[in-house]
Amino acid sequence: MKPPNRDNNNTKQLCCKISRKATVKNKMRAHKLLLSQQQRTLLRLKPQRSENRRRSRASNERCYASSVTKKLKVVVFSTHDYEREILENQLNSHFDVTFLKPRLTIETVDLAHGYDAMCCFVNDDLSADVIERLSEKCGVKMIALRCAGFDKVDVDCCKKFGVLVYRVPMYDPLSIAEHAMALILALNRKLMISHSRVKSGNFTLDGLVGFSMRGKTLGVIGTGKIGRGLANICANGFGMSVLGYDLKQKREFVGQYCDDVETVLKNSDIISLHLPLNEHTKHFIAEKEIDSMKRGAMLINTSRGGLLNIKDVICGLRLGKLGSLGIDVYESEEKIFFKDFSNLTVEEKMLYWDDTMAQLSSLPQVLVTPHQAFLTHEALTEIAECTKQNILEFARENAEELDDAENDDARTDVSNTTRVC
Ligand code: NAD
Repeated sequence: MKPPNRDNNNTKQLCCKISRKATVKNKMRAHKLLLSQQQRTLLRLKPQRSENRRRSRASNERCYASSVTKKLKVVVFSTHDYEREILENQLNSHFDVTFLKPRLTIETVDLAHGYDAMCCFVNDDLSADVIERLSEKCGVKMIALRCAGFDKVDVDCCKKFGVLVYRVPMYDPLSIAEHAMALILALNRKLMISHSRVKSGNFTLDGLVGFSMRGKTLGVIGTGKIGRGLANICANGFGMSVLGYDLKQKREFVGQYCDDVETVLKNSDIISLHLPLNEHTKHFIAEKEIDSMKRGAMLINTSRGGLLNIKDVICGLRLGKLGSLGIDVYESEEKIFFKDFSNLTVEEKMLYWDDTMAQLSSLPQVLVTPHQAFLTHEALTEIAECTKQNILEFARENAEELDDAENDDARTDVSNTTRVC
């Protein structure tokens, strides 16, 4: 434990520094700070969250710098041009980093040989075969995911081989909510059709009639960070009614909760999914759920492709039960997303041909974006910063000389939120 007087001494020094600046406001602030820190010491309360996080970051970096003589070797898979500079800025000064473009698969896993930690993205393959080889043959001890979802990770296998997995649980959730809103508006006002018409010199309006958002009902399934963000935009920005369904109801949700998902499906004009993908949510929307929806409803999925039974969804679109579909995610997306097939020959294109995506792309009431909802400068910066902290946390947990007292709070803070296993 920390010696009890250390906090007070630090606080006094801080107070002196602040009070030397001599404005009344600063003196009051210093006095308040002294009081609150004394109270915390006396009552043995934990520091507030943001302060906790700041302390965690600072102590991770201090600890790593003081206890590690050789830089940790980190290999980054699925590196894209849009993120490289941001990742380099965060990681290069702390670790010995190699950036690789290929996706992690059983064919590319040996590229990780000799690295302590690896950094992966949303479509990298972290199934049992890959994990076993990573641990047994390559010697990798830690995986830092540059995403929130860990549905591609065989967590049991990681536990078996002692591979630690960290993720970025939250990165600017509003970026994803705003993208869901963009899909809704583009589908409603048929912007994809008018855009391509105008490009080819057709300025007519037939077939472009949309609906007013005000007074319509949005159904949010999964009212976590992103679902609540979209609910706020629709309720406060567009005057819509909002219904919600979640296993755990949240006080901050602006809409009205329903006890069952059918009630949301039956009464919503637009349904947006914000659930994690797991064994309970796989194919959450299939024929039965589509039958429960209002005829002509709009369905939005920015979460994970596996939430939809896509064959049933296409059938619903063809029959007009579903009015339109906006997706940023796709069940087999790892085969096609983040790749450019446009310059390939027909023969080469056939090797990667995806019949279901071809059907979806050909339907006028469907809008597909290639998993880009997170793609804002703000979110990329938060992902890179959290990834650095996760690797530092791993390095610190593995370092021998730790100042346990100083880092107790920090360890609790980071592990609870970012460690998967
Ligand atoms: P979150 O954890 O804050 O919210 C998920 C909510 O789903 C929680 O409130 C939880 O209680 C609820 N839930 C879980 N299982 C449920 C079930 N079976 N039935 C009803 N409710 C259930 O997550 P979030 O940050 O809002 O993210 C939602 C999803 O968005 C993530 O799982 C991730 O897959 C996806 N995502 C996509 C992108 C992108 O770029 N397209 C980016 C980030 C996240």
